Amino acid sequence: MMDISVVTPLYNEEESLPELAAWIDQVMKENNFSYEVIMVDDGSSDDSWETICRLGKTNANIKGIRFQRNYGKSAALNEGFKAASGNVVITMDADLQDSPDEIPALYKMIVNDNYDMVSGWKKKRHDNTFTKNIPSKLFNMVARKSSGIKLHDFNCGLKAYKQKVVKTIEVYGEMHRYIPIIAKWSGFRKIGEKTVSHQARKYGVTKFGWERFINGFLDLSTIMFVSKFGKRPMHFFGLWGSLVFFFGLIIWIYLFIAKFAFQKYNMTDRPLFYIGIISIVIGVQLFLAGFLGELISRNSSIRNSYLIEDKSGL
Ligand code: UDP
Ligand code: MG
Repeated sequence: MMDISVVTPLYNEEESLPELAAWIDQVMKENNFSYEVIMVDDGSSDDSWETICRLGKTNANIKGIRFQRNYGKSAALNEGFKAASGNVVITMDADLQDSPDEIPALYKMIVNDNYDMVSGWKKKRHDNTFTKNIPSKLFNMVARKSSGIKLHDFNCGLKAYKQKVVKTIEVYGEMHRYIPIIAKWSGFRKIGEKTVSHQARKYGVTKFGWERFINGFLDLSTIMFVSKFGKRPMHFFGLWGSLVFFFGLIIWIYLFIAKFAFQKYNMTDRPLFYIGIISIVIGVQLFLAGFLGELISRNSSIRNSYLIEDKSGL
């Protein structure tokens, strides 16, 4: 079996690719690894694809996948994972910010220390402090607290996996920021971290602007919700629907008693009346959302990736 598959998602990185390919090749040769590099061209509009084809002609370990348009880093990783056949799968950005020199140590952590996945930590980061480093600290703190996974740098592009992990998980939307969470939720619990060196971008420009943080937090809430209630949405919507509904009902019972037993108020003059109506309506809505959620989750098979241990050896 091949030792390592390196998966590199790339979007308009033509200048970096030759250097990256040569560097990876050198590291692999020095360590006697059998390997492949799967370069996933995420719909580049520059000459990235021509460059990949050219590199593939001189080095048979380099393979390419090309998207017709830009689908995003997550989709690129997902396709690369499907194609990967190495025992250990390593993902790496194509822009030379991640160093191929880290590959042997990551490989050893998977093979010798039996980690399911190891995430890089760009401890000393060479990006803009205000647009990247500070928001990223905040983002990682929230991800750490809400997922219970003790990583400093969830979104690091440099990661290593057992092959089994990448064949089980599905990365879609912009979920590449949360692969450790997706992996944990699929049942892979041994997740490690390794500090990795990080360079400033040598060529080209960053492909993610400040919107990344808004999208990032929205995706985090999706992940947390889906991992907890994805298969049982009624337990979330039903609970909140009932609470809100009964809150409204109690208000109304109180208002009725106040009106008919004590003849005190004109019901519609009281703010409570409106709060009661709104609560009842929202409660019913939440309940209906729960039913719809159940119908949808019943019909979706694609998001159900179960981890099944192979017992054939027993
Ligand atoms: N990338 C991609 N598709 C996209 C955006 C980015 O494949 O839609 C790749 C990009 O070419 C690079 C990696 O994802 O190899 C990380 O992107 P970038 O370096 O722009 O992110 P940053 O390092 O600024 O966080
Ligand atoms: Mg980069």
